[in-house]
Amino acid sequence: MVWVTNLFTGVRIFQKAEKPPTCEVCGRELPGSLTWAIIHGIAVCQCGAEYVCYHYEEGKILEKEPTCRIPEELIPKYRNAWQSSRNIDEYLGKAKAISEEWNKTHPEVEEEGESSGA
Ligand SMILES: [Zn+2]
Repeated sequence: MVWVTNLFTGVRIFQKAEKPPTCEVCGRELPGSLTWAIIHGIAVCQCGAEYVCYHYEEGKILEKEPTCRIPEELIPKYRNAWQSSRNIDEYLGKAKAISEEWNKTHPEVEEEGESSGA
């Protein structure tokens, strides 16, 4: 139950258990594989998976482990693509195809809480 910082990239995550959490896609330990993204509180793994590291509630950062931003039903697909790829380029090609396929069937996903004026 501690905050752990990646000394090289400065990414800070909350670790709930004794063991560090691992990436849902590539299995690397967090925050070892994470670099901050442009968006505040969000970090990206070496495999490209994004994680929300800072969860806010009423302006306070919660003691909560990173959560993967990949839609849950896509995680197994990305994981399979990762495991069947020989290198990062091959994986990124497969990952792009997965996200393009997803975008076709899920157009314009709106951010949570942003209701379109009903
Ligand atoms: Zn990863």
